[in-house]
Amino acid sequence: MIVMKFGGSSVADAGRIRHVGEIVASRLSRKPVVVLSAMGDTTDLLLEAANAALAEKSVSIEKIEDLHYKAIADLNLGEKTEAEIRPLLEELKSLLAGISLIRELTGRTKDYLVSFGERLSVRIAASCFRLMNMNARAMDAWEIGFVSDSNYTAAELDRESWNMVPRLLNPLLEGGILPVVTGFIAKDAKGNITTLGRGGSDRSATIIAAAMGAEEAQVWKDVDGILTADPRLVGDARPVELVTYEEAAELAYFGAQVLHPRAMQPCLKTNIPVLVKNSYNPGAPGTRIVASRPEKPAFPVRALTSRGNITLIDIVSTRMVGQAGFLNGVFSVFARHGVSVDVVATSEVSISLTLDTANDLEALKEDLARIARVEIKTGKAIVTIIGDVSRSSEILQRAFGVCADLDVQVQMVSQGASKVNISFIVDDTQAAGVVQGLHRNYFGKDDKDGK
Ligand code: ASP
Ligand code: MG
Repeated sequence: MIVMKFGGSSVADAGRIRHVGEIVASRLSRKPVVVLSAMGDTTDLLLEAANAALAEKSVSIEKIEDLHYKAIADLNLGEKTEAEIRPLLEELKSLLAGISLIRELTGRTKDYLVSFGERLSVRIAASCFRLMNMNARAMDAWEIGFVSDSNYTAAELDRESWNMVPRLLNPLLEGGILPVVTGFIAKDAKGNITTLGRGGSDRSATIIAAAMGAEEAQVWKDVDGILTADPRLVGDARPVELVTYEEAAELAYFGAQVLHPRAMQPCLKTNIPVLVKNSYNPGAPGTRIVASRPEKPAFPVRALTSRGNITLIDIVSTRMVGQAGFLNGVFSVFARHGVSVDVVATSEVSISLTLDTANDLEALKEDLARIARVEIKTGKAIVTIIGDVSRSSEILQRAFGVCADLDVQVQMVSQGASKVNISFIVDDTQAAGVVQGLHRNYFGKDDKDGK
């Protein structure tokens, strides 16, 4: 069996839902379980409605109603489907009225509220799929065994779910049923609705795939997969065919928002490949995320990313030579200030490190100045090369060549311990040019290596 997950933009309206139906229909022989997000921006609209209810007396959910009733009408799903979703929309209205009455929005209420998005979308989609001659059944996640803790807005599934999911899903699949399951939501042991956190339906899909021992988890998005660079920066960025979980996690951290590392975890643990596909371009091969690469690729670089608005801190201690505990002293200052450090390089007498610029730098600097000389430089960017770090010399030689040609001074270099990333710091204003130059060098059309 396979799991096929479609995000909000893939089910944004009637046309998109029918198109998803076509994609699913062409893969029925692989016994899919479909996992869906809420239609379009419904989750955001629901949260907006909640905030409005907190501030005012009456709240309109007209936009949400229109979106769903229009899809039903456009798909010709008829009175029966309308009757299926009307009670949900009525319940939603009562809930909002309740919120505006008591002027309080707890995590529990928030989860209950946003759950309507996914509950509506699976009912409409399943009905559409039935009209397309598939034996589809809309299911709320708790009907397939999603039991979570009560950590509202960021719940974690209980162990027992892992046994319950196959026990409940397998008979359906054997009976030729196509389950269309809500992503994102679950219920706790007390029966309250919970959510796995924003964007959580990817994780719902990978949990189902892992629990079922699926052939693969397909995550259908609105991009061609993981790209060699940010397409807004690099015009000819193209999809990467294969990345490891590790590479994908580094890419996600450094700004390529394709799949959150938390979403990959269940499949990583169980060694099930994740395939990122584009529902707007189903013919494209997409990106396959696997535990390990079957063979070393000829070309050592997979992808490039950059992250701006970074602060670089240089810490120099004349007492560092031969001293134990200096690094410890420095990092305990960061810990005390609750500041997370991203990239680090050290020498015998100095430490350079980077942080996101949002932090309160003055207080931090004052504390650091007690133990060392400190220099803070803002307006920096981290450029990251994801690839085979065992070939770092070759990668770096070319990277430095590009920077030299652009007359860009590299201000710090760090080779990730994970052995998949090399990061370096340049001025924010130079980052785009560097990424473009690197991309041309590593992946340029006239470079036969970089295919
Ligand atoms: N609908 C939820 C959200 O927008 C969950 C998801 O789409 O993954 O966060
Ligand atoms: Mg969404």
